[in-house]
Amino acid sequence: MSTLSDILLSIVSLVRPRRCAVCGGDLPRGVDFLCTMCRYKAPLTGYWREKDNPMTERFAGLVCVEHASALLFFSGGSGWRKVIHGFKYGGQWRAAYLLGRQYGRELRQSGLYDDIDIIVPVPLHYRKLLRRGYNQSTYIARGMAREMGVGVDTRSLRRTRNNPSQARKMHSERWDNVDDLFAVRCSAESLRGAHILLVDDVFTTGATVVSCIETLHRALPECRISVAALAVVRRGLGLER
Ligand SMILES: [Zn+2]
Repeated sequence: MSTLSDILLSIVSLVRPRRCAVCGGDLPRGVDFLCTMCRYKAPLTGYWREKDNPMTERFAGLVCVEHASALLFFSGGSGWRKVIHGFKYGGQWRAAYLLGRQYGRELRQSGLYDDIDIIVPVPLHYRKLLRRGYNQSTYIARGMAREMGVGVDTRSLRRTRNNPSQARKMHSERWDNVDDLFAVRCSAESLRGAHILLVDDVFTTGATVVSCIETLHRALPECRISVAALAVVRRGLGLER
């Protein structure tokens, strides 16, 4: 997968105009995806360097997690919103993969995530997967896995129900609608005893991720679970904008 991805990405970068995904400015030769200024000004959380942070606090009293972090704050009015919407709804899977690689490098350097055994992306319902053609969280996971030197498991966890509205999920995940949202398949046996990194795209209230963790812990009580979201909504953590 990794070699094929790299070849595909190289081909795509040859035929696409070189513009920064965030500000739309021209990219100099040899620079890919983001301009220097947008890299420098990226709204990074830094949470992956802290064992206790507002994301781990979000899970307190709900489910047991080893570590939790997000790469970016989801900021409404910025070009980053366009990037995230692009890979959620606009077919921009390459952005998800490249940001996953950046996040994977940060996790590798943090030291807190060194004993991760396997990465599991939050699954889409198969109807949504068919309609969209890809799961953005799988591309994020593959980018991270490439940098962290671990595998990705896209088979063991499945989504049993479709969300009624994509837009609504973006704005307010509903706690009253996530019971039994996921189930495990027989292949999950291979995850027994593993330290699993559960990867999501945008973390809002955390309701979906909590539902995933509950399902995994029920099926595999001895596994440990950490959470990595590409972006987190500040108000979901009770932080001011
Ligand atoms: Zn830029």
